[in-house]
Amino acid sequence: MGIGSKLMAFAGLLCMLLLLPLAASQAQTQQQQPQARAVGVTQWSDDEAHFNRTLDSILVPRVVGSPGHQQVRDYLVQSLSGLGFQAEVDEFKQRVPVFGELTFANVVGTINPHAQNFLALACHYDSKYFPNDPGFLGATDSAVPCAILLNTAKTLSGYLQKEFRNRNDVGLMLIFFDGEEAFKDWTDADSVYGSKHLAKKLAQVVRKDPAGQFQQAPRNIDRIEVLVLLDLIGARNPKFSSFYENTHGLHTSLVQIEKSLRSAGQLEGNNNMFLNRASGGLVDDDHRPFLEENVPILHLVATPFPDVWHTPRDNAANLHWPSIRNFNRVFRNFVYQYLKRHTSPVNLRFYRT
Ligand SMILES: [Zn+2]
Repeated sequence: MGIGSKLMAFAGLLCMLLLLPLAASQAQTQQQQPQARAVGVTQWSDDEAHFNRTLDSILVPRVVGSPGHQQVRDYLVQSLSGLGFQAEVDEFKQRVPVFGELTFANVVGTINPHAQNFLALACHYDSKYFPNDPGFLGATDSAVPCAILLNTAKTLSGYLQKEFRNRNDVGLMLIFFDGEEAFKDWTDADSVYGSKHLAKKLAQVVRKDPAGQFQQAPRNIDRIEVLVLLDLIGARNPKFSSFYENTHGLHTSLVQIEKSLRSAGQLEGNNNMFLNRASGGLVDDDHRPFLEENVPILHLVATPFPDVWHTPRDNAANLHWPSIRNFNRVFRNFVYQYLKRHTSPVNLRFYRT
């Protein structure tokens, strides 16, 4: 998340970066969204020991090019492999402000890589460079979201490794973007380096030649049914609004799962995280290059941003564990329900091709 967008957010509105002229096509996105019902929301147990171990491993300064960055990159690959994902690294070099040429690496884990479509869950793992704060940790930004993704995979592993494995209709993709943070000032150019690279790579037209004739295969990016992007999570009592009309049904599922878990006494406190309302604006983030390629986006970013955002206080001491536990419980049920109920392709795209 960029400083620019933050300043705009705290000017009293959410950041107003409209990235596509979406309105004209929104009427096309009716009826195909899976709706949650209050079933199956209590059968998955927490694994807090795993969450804490995972967060400890990620919560180090990890500016692109630093030893901590390499360490976390390696940890993500090992963790994904250990959880039964096929792990890949999308490595590239790019010149950036302040540092010059840096090596970036998105880390992507997939179950059912040959499935027709994917549910993609994403966060960024780099931490922001502050010249005067080499120890900046970025606990909410985005060490906790990364730990949530791995913990979701861990707590659902009984399902993912048995019943879900070898499905052809849908696969699960975990994306850990590199280089989300600006090195100098947040602009379209100085931000989201990793997601720009990965979106471009996935949007390449793949040709295959099965019988002497070239055929145009679907672009891999078009196989992503929805990109669920987590960011700025871990502070007390976060609020998540719905940012995109075409994924509003999925956002409503989160609202309903939270409600069901609360009624069942499975959540701590009384804060409703998922608000059944449209946001008043958009927040610029790693989803931008995917949105520009017509990928449906479910943006789970706390607004207002945590008050520790981009300060030395964004550390473990200021995390709010009941809020994190609650998020984990709602989110793992959401992922489970999406995959469990999936039978045929879900098309939430603004523009149908
Ligand atoms: Zn940030």
